[in-house]
Amino acid sequence: MPPREPLFSVVARDPQSRARAGMLRTAHGIIETPALFAVATKASIKALPVWLWEAAGVQAVVVNTYHLLLAPGADRVASLGGVHQFARIPTPVFSDSGGFQAFSLGVAFGRSVSKVVRSQEAADGSRASSSAQNGALSRITNDGVQFRSHRDGSVHLLTPEASIRVQHLLGSDLIVALDECTDPLAPREYQEEALARTHRWLAQSIAAHQQFAPETRRRLGWTPALYGVVQGGRYEELRRESARFVGKQEVDAIAIGGSFDAGDIQSAVHWVVEELPESKPRHLLGIGEPEDIRAAVREGVDTFDCVQPTRLARHGIAYGPNLTRLNLRNARYREDSAPLDPTCRCMTCRSGFSRAYLAHLVREREMAAATYLTLHNLFALNRLLREERQRILSLGRSNDSAA
Ligand SMILES: [Zn+2]
Repeated sequence: MPPREPLFSVVARDPQSRARAGMLRTAHGIIETPALFAVATKASIKALPVWLWEAAGVQAVVVNTYHLLLAPGADRVASLGGVHQFARIPTPVFSDSGGFQAFSLGVAFGRSVSKVVRSQEAADGSRASSSAQNGALSRITNDGVQFRSHRDGSVHLLTPEASIRVQHLLGSDLIVALDECTDPLAPREYQEEALARTHRWLAQSIAAHQQFAPETRRRLGWTPALYGVVQGGRYEELRRESARFVGKQEVDAIAIGGSFDAGDIQSAVHWVVEELPESKPRHLLGIGEPEDIRAAVREGVDTFDCVQPTRLARHGIAYGPNLTRLNLRNARYREDSAPLDPTCRCMTCRSGFSRAYLAHLVREREMAAATYLTLHNLFALNRLLREERQRILSLGRSNDSAA
């Protein structure tokens, strides 16, 4: 058998920071990193037909295990050929473990749980009730996340094995071990307990992954790469301990998880990356503020996923010059003949649409508005990552790419 190409290789490093440019190889193509995975929760990027993904610069997508498990069901997706065949997805697919959604949609049913606590929410404690101890619709047990479906109230237990099984059935290229995403406000004792659980679950996930791999290879012709998740909240000691632990396990790649206090992301990433092996790709789960992405790239993160560009677009908010936010519902845009961003080369901007026209579509709830803005926002955030990659490439070719 010919030697398999490695999952990941670094092609250049920034001598001034930990930033690196790389190639992440999957059965559905190579992802040039640093890169963003566009959110395709239910195997579709909302408002963006698959023919426009390339125009939006989409290199890979993230699908949601929790949602696909409930509908149409993982067994159905598998029987229809896997998620690439079922949804005609041309790019690599990353799936999350489903744990965060199972927990947050259950506990916080009816309101949103964000991955980043901004200072006001932290100050008034408005998220305290979503901390991990209990909840009407879901709870963490030592076995997994028990939850009631937000669709029909049916009760499910998402164990590490179940999550890996579902992701194998979906046929994702990149899969994630189940972890417990703790509230950043949870006390240290709870963070320690949750971290121990996350590490135990990782061992179970690895065993399940190895068990399912031969069958998946027979069915699809390849096997997914497994990400282990580093947790530890805001505590440096726990973050480092978790990174050392996960880095040593039989995982192909590392994901950095957790909810963060605003401003904490960079230090958490810094501690973690210092402890991680150089050879494995690193993904930062669910973070997508442009300034957080830039900072994390410089700390050595390779890939990101975030709902922000697509969600903002559906709320009538477009990225303007330098990724500032333009809320097109604001009265000032009604007569603004400028494009969203004069430096943007996306199809929306090249079509010559003015802010005034797009603001009109948003106000009138024309469905094309979501498509135009989603395409532009994804293009704009992908451009940030492309520019970071170019910057790293221009600074220095890596020694290990010479071979
Ligand atoms: Zn544009």
